[in-house]
Amino acid sequence: MTVSLNAARRTADLDALAGGAPVDVLVVGLGVTGAGVALDAASRGLRVVAVDAHDLAFGTSRWSSKLVHGGLRYLAKGQVGVAHESAVERGVLMTRTAPHLTHAMPMVIPLTDAVGKPQAALAMQGLRAGDLLRRMAHTPRGLLPGPRRLSVEQTIARVPGVSRAGLRGGLLSYDGQLEDDARLVTALARTAAAHGARVLTKVRATDLAGDSATLRDEVTGQTLTVRARAVVNATGVWAGGLVDGLTLTPSRGTHLVLRADRMPGTDVAVSAPVPGSTNRFVFTLPQADGLVYLGLTDEATDEIPDVPRPEEHEVDFLLDTINRVLARPLTRDDVVGSYAGLRPLLSAEGSTSDLSRRHAVLTSTTGVVTIVGGKLTTYRRMAQDAVDQAVSAAGLGAGSSVTASLPLVGAAPRHELARIVAPTRLVRRYGTEAPAVVAAAVEATGLPEADLLAPLSDRVPVTRAELVFGVTHEGALDTSDLLDRRTRIGLVPVDREACEDAASWALSVAG
Ligand SMILES: Cc1cc2nc3c(=O)[nH]c(=O)nc-3n(C[C@H](O)[C@H](O)[C@H](O)COP(=O)(O)OP(=O)(O)OC[C@H]3O[C@@H](n4cnc5c(N)ncnc54)[C@H](O)[C@@H]3O)c2cc1C
Repeated sequence: MTVSLNAARRTADLDALAGGAPVDVLVVGLGVTGAGVALDAASRGLRVVAVDAHDLAFGTSRWSSKLVHGGLRYLAKGQVGVAHESAVERGVLMTRTAPHLTHAMPMVIPLTDAVGKPQAALAMQGLRAGDLLRRMAHTPRGLLPGPRRLSVEQTIARVPGVSRAGLRGGLLSYDGQLEDDARLVTALARTAAAHGARVLTKVRATDLAGDSATLRDEVTGQTLTVRARAVVNATGVWAGGLVDGLTLTPSRGTHLVLRADRMPGTDVAVSAPVPGSTNRFVFTLPQADGLVYLGLTDEATDEIPDVPRPEEHEVDFLLDTINRVLARPLTRDDVVGSYAGLRPLLSAEGSTSDLSRRHAVLTSTTGVVTIVGGKLTTYRRMAQDAVDQAVSAAGLGAGSSVTASLPLVGAAPRHELARIVAPTRLVRRYGTEAPAVVAAAVEATGLPEADLLAPLSDRVPVTRAELVFGVTHEGALDTSDLLDRRTRIGLVPVDREACEDAASWALSVAG
């Protein structure tokens, strides 16, 4: 059965909650962490309610680099445990829980004048160590091939736009790439709902205790008190606002968005070293929808706005750094969009790029369990640790986590995904549900498939079928949910403007 999150289900769930019996676990925040917690708890048989003040993936989880990475960077900092955990969780996502949403991303470090010989040797050593982590995590080499040195000709073939000045070859390696980070969160939330969780967006927690919370429906303004045997705070950079004694040191990471035709022939990620650093790189990340992201910065910040914005100097830093390895420099005219996210780092001494990316489960004086830190790749382990803590503190009768072997909605082994009869784009985004996306859109609109599967424009490959499915099955309640999270059209403002009408249409026919 295809699980549906939509306005009607939201209303029914809110009605059931008001005056209902206590639930086992209330989860606050529906980023990757909270959606993961909701799934972990629901799949252990617990009664779960999970809320977000805005929407699925409203916060940091939609502003990532969209990599499921093997933890190479953490290895370079001596954080072996974090690196190993990352490699294991990457393998879980790519081989079992979400093969449809993940694939191998080839990455090339061109060895130009910008990369000295000692630095190149160090980088290759790191890539080999990363490959060892992959082996220890039992992720097949066929899925993520090992690193190797490229000749000058091979480097040019992989990166036609590479600078020829002093080019000695390149280093090729592979890591995991997500189809999209917000789509992973949507899949998690829907899988949790399929296991009985009540998943409610536009519902804000205004006050938390260990056994209850005050919630406000952001659509109607009505408040309600929910009693819960355990309360989990998974609000990322906002976590410190809901419990006492928790200080976060957020750091902003910015990406620029370019059209792929600005880097013709390049379907690999291209890395350039940050001057003065041995292990920091700026990289381009090609996406399946004709865009390339260029990231990323790491800047300490005290401000926690709902939607962070990149700063001007970050744009210059990213362009200047990647231009060190490109023949034709990128300019501000090539930048069609940009985005910034805040890393939810726990406070510690030192610069934000040195803070540990390890996660922490903390219990407040009132008994609220907060899960914070970590990263997108390790959300499943974070969720498991948080639910273990909630289960033991509240004495809930539940077994161990089962999520390491629980496929998300749409997941199937890669050879089965290859046999699905549906447009490739839909299989990449919905896996086994791709045919159901088309069928649901036909049923809701009465339009022929050809109309529903046509790209919205020359520049935007998103289809009307996806917008309609967003409304009928993925809990999109307004145009922003559709344009900015179920699809990522909003990453390019001119495209967003051009597609506003299509999003309104989808809400009017299917809402
Ligand atoms: C620039 C950048 C790049 C990154 N790249 C990667 C990467 O490539 N790979 C990787 O593994 N990790 C990456 N990370 C890390 C990763 O994105 C984060 O660790 C992760 O997304 C955090 O998710 P979260 O669910 O904890 O927080 P969030 O995604 O921020 O979710 C918190 C949610 O809580 C909600 N909320 C807040 N207050 C309330 C309230 N009072 N009531 C109800 N809801 C509330 C918010 O609306 C939000 O949806 C990156 C991070 C950044 C900043």
